[in-house]
Amino acid sequence: MTAYEQPHGGHGVPHRKSAPFHAITPFTMLDFPEHIACILWIAGCNMRCGYCHNPQIVLGKGTIGTEQAFDFLRSRKGLLEGVVFSGGEATTWSGLAGFIRQVRAMGFAIKLDTNGLRPDVVESLLCEGLLDRVALDYKAPRSKFQKVTATSAFSRFERTLDLLCKQERVPFEVRTTVHADLLEEDDLLAMASDLSRRGYRGQYALQQAISGPDRPTLGDLQANPKSINVARLTAQSPLELQFR
Ligand code: SF4
Repeated sequence: MTAYEQPHGGHGVPHRKSAPFHAITPFTMLDFPEHIACILWIAGCNMRCGYCHNPQIVLGKGTIGTEQAFDFLRSRKGLLEGVVFSGGEATTWSGLAGFIRQVRAMGFAIKLDTNGLRPDVVESLLCEGLLDRVALDYKAPRSKFQKVTATSAFSRFERTLDLLCKQERVPFEVRTTVHADLLEEDDLLAMASDLSRRGYRGQYALQQAISGPDRPTLGDLQANPKSINVARLTAQSPLELQFR
């Protein structure tokens, strides 16, 4: 039994039957702007996006406990500047806030990647000043949210979006993964307009879904059948678009 699994183990982090982390990416200069960072991948997710190419993270159990993660972070003090909490969906882990408190106390900046389904968690982290950056996935417009995510919780997503738009302290970015079987260009323009209407003024990132015979997805989608019309979207979007 690890220290993490003991009933009153270290770091004040609530306990979980399994280890929370699926994997640790020890180094990235791409995922946390202006920071040299690592990524902690939290197992489990509250969505089931058809294009998801991480079914092992979404459906599987974590294999790395908090003590192991703390050991890793201690070994990177002075070498890394930030920690990205990704997944899966990081906000599904009940120990997230307690763990982040400890990581911040070690001097790391914190970025949260989230699908926005837990506005209560995001609000609490923001209110406590535990976040330095957020990346929010805007999965689909309300009319297609169920089709894309297999959840009907658009109202929870929009609460997260609105609370991020209404605050100014923490920079955040919005991004959408596009698979042509699920979203059309008109959907993307509608989402850009919705973001603009809610007060979002940052770049809106669009990334093509990865799929194909060698990249199984949760929804068994075939390879992305067509790429998006960059010229049309750029011309008609009210927001600056970033294509990844
Ligand atoms: S793509 Fe969807 S199902 Fe996969 S981890 Fe992200 S939110 Fe969860």
